[in-house]
Amino acid sequence: MEPTTQAIVLLPGQVIVSLNFDDCLASQSQGAAILQARGMRGTFFVHSTRMGQSGRLTLAQVRALRDAGHEIGGHTLTHPHLSELPPDEQRKEICNDRVALLNAGFRVTSFAYPFGDKDATTRQIVIDCNYNSARESGGLRTATGGSSNPYAEPVPPADPYAIRTHGSVQDTTTLTALKNYVLRAEESGGGWVPIVFHHICGPCNPPQTYSIAPATLTAFVEWLATRASRGTTVATMDAVIGGALKPPVSWPPSQLLKNPSLETDLNGDGTPDCWQRGGFGSNTFTWTRTQDAHGGTWAQQVRITQITSGDRKLITRQDDSSCTPTPTTGHHYRISAWYKATTQVRFKAYYRDSAGAWIYWSQGPLLPARSSYTFAEWTTPAAPSAARALSVGLSIDQVGTLTMDDFALSDVEASASL
Ligand SMILES: [Zn+2]
Repeated sequence: MEPTTQAIVLLPGQVIVSLNFDDCLASQSQGAAILQARGMRGTFFVHSTRMGQSGRLTLAQVRALRDAGHEIGGHTLTHPHLSELPPDEQRKEICNDRVALLNAGFRVTSFAYPFGDKDATTRQIVIDCNYNSARESGGLRTATGGSSNPYAEPVPPADPYAIRTHGSVQDTTTLTALKNYVLRAEESGGGWVPIVFHHICGPCNPPQTYSIAPATLTAFVEWLATRASRGTTVATMDAVIGGALKPPVSWPPSQLLKNPSLETDLNGDGTPDCWQRGGFGSNTFTWTRTQDAHGGTWAQQVRITQITSGDRKLITRQDDSSCTPTPTTGHHYRISAWYKATTQVRFKAYYRDSAGAWIYWSQGPLLPARSSYTFAEWTTPAAPSAARALSVGLSIDQVGTLTMDDFALSDVEASASL
């Protein structure tokens, strides 16, 4: 199973602090190093489209953050004022950013609203895009404002899609003010204090309103470390919220498959609805509906223990017209999946002709063995005019084990024209 974190439960009076770094700014690598030196990990809310741009973290740097144990969260494609956009534009910004980050290999469960800007529609879209939480900007009580607000967010939060903060740290935010965020929370019964940083510099060139000097951040986290003795600790947003990684959701919904994450099995036969366990030839094999899932709860696993010919594969169900997408002649179809395998595997594609016969169509290149879940995709040739329905899946034709989950199938030409 993908790491599913258990939501943190606070003891009475306990405070948990989450250190957030927004906008994938280049100077945040230094912030990460300051945290790591004290054994702390932060949450970095990045844009899939901005990594590698001038002044931003590169993809390699963001991967290094992940590898060091920091959390990578989503923050939209282009940092718009979401509530000013039509819903479909918001869906693209929120969902497709998450999909791109997932496809880059990140475990993306936490979202932050750009500018903290949202309305009820935005909030629902974040849920529909399969995020586990979303963070605002503001809503907690500070020394100078929000006197009717609490000093800390409860755990679990009042609304996991409206997690409150003190607003972003600015160059005028003092070390004392940062400490007071924590001290007031400690004094008022405990709770969760997410703190939002942007640039890590001082003096900054050019000047940055939303910045903190490295020396101030260092002093703050060193002081924060001393609070552990009274139960105040640091954790990522995902660690506080907990829960499983949910499957990707694209906008517009290009997904042509039913039950793509293999979750539904209404008749309980172990084969997910709208899928079939296929294969041919002379081989010995076992199928398992496994909880070693990439997204959701269930995945499918096939193990070949002896083979002289043929293959085994999970493909979309061929005898049920409610499960089979209808191709457009001349269009290409992109199939993707997350898989683990002890040997090489490959995508397969079939179509049903006008006489109703299922015909082997094409196959992708051999994909390498992978010990952990890996994203793979393959684009079919142009669909022939004879094709009336499609069936696709992943196959194995050597001794070994293939575990697969979170398939997707999209029409390349239809997606490009949207
Ligand atoms: Zn931002």
